[in-house]
Amino acid sequence: GLATAGGPQEERLVVVVRVRPSAETNDHCIDVISEKSLLFDDGGKSRPRQYSYDYVFKETDTQEKVYKKTTAPLVRDVLNGYNAAVFAYGATGSGKTHTMLGPCRKKTTSTANSERGATAAYDVDANNNESGLMVRAIEEIFHNIENSPNNSSKVSISYLEIYNELIRDLLNPGGPLELREDHRGQRITVAGLSEITTTSRQEVVSLLLKGNKARTMEPTAANQTSSRSHALLSITVQTKTPLGTKQGRLFLTDLAGSERAKKTKNRGKRLQEGAHINRSLLALGNCINALSGGARYVNYRDSKLTRLLKEALSGKCKTVMIAHVAPEGKHRDETKNTLVYADRAN
Ligand code: ADP
Ligand code: MG
Repeated sequence: GLATAGGPQEERLVVVVRVRPSAETNDHCIDVISEKSLLFDDGGKSRPRQYSYDYVFKETDTQEKVYKKTTAPLVRDVLNGYNAAVFAYGATGSGKTHTMLGPCRKKTTSTANSERGATAAYDVDANNNESGLMVRAIEEIFHNIENSPNNSSKVSISYLEIYNELIRDLLNPGGPLELREDHRGQRITVAGLSEITTTSRQEVVSLLLKGNKARTMEPTAANQTSSRSHALLSITVQTKTPLGTKQGRLFLTDLAGSERAKKTKNRGKRLQEGAHINRSLLALGNCINALSGGARYVNYRDSKLTRLLKEALSGKCKTVMIAHVAPEGKHRDETKNTLVYADRAN
């Protein structure tokens, strides 16, 4: 990571790994050995290898701990008028949605989306202390604003998915939306995207649930309901000050499964999805790599994901990458890919 001069202090890029719990007790490929490192066992092919990150969350670490260490510092920046981004990276089933939203009950429905394939909806238990980063961040932002002396802030949220390089509004699902940029290519907006202003936790939770249910889910050979879309929540805080309005924005992204197209034996449409997903994950990895290396020029143009997130990946903004891994030996290949991706970003 790179320490910044001026603006928010501390690291500009933080890369952490979260190991999800497992019901299986033997044949694990991950052994967390400290708060910053783990051992990966590639199945006896060579000796276990050590990987180090800014933090490693072990299987028993709580949602609250993950929030406090990753997102709480960014929330403070956003309240002060900076942008920031949190990404959940990892293969399908590694725990991304659990981190971002909370524990989900899976239920299968058939909806108007079904011509795109089977659609599985998720339900999240809205009131327990297992809620994920999205809910916790919004709660803390509301809490801060309610307790600020002159309560002059406005919070709005938008929630979209990128599926096959097409943008859909998850708060008001419909046809694909276009990216617009101003003539200097500086400000990027999504034309027609809903921005909902609210101060009610209840309303936000129900909006997130509704939005999550609207995500495109596709059955693949690797997993019945692997999520092939990126879901991007943005929380914008505008505060009136004597000098004008300051605005901070927090992006919280539940990335599409990082598994490789060749492994899922995808064909046709599925294979193309894989290509799009890999393109945006690759583009994101390259941007983050460039940021961590302090590169002067970063190419955001390679994917919709990076174009949309440019304002949070550039300048003084802070980025947190949470790489998720499954500990079971049978997931060794994907786990290794994720450890290596996160290592590059570190
Ligand atoms: P992904 O979104 O990466 O596909 P999920 O978040 O859906 O993965 O997680 C897969 C399964 O593992 C879900 O049943 C989820 O509830 C469970 N799970 C993941 N992470 C945790 C965790 N930290 N604690 C408890 N259960 C978890
Ligand atoms: Mg998911």
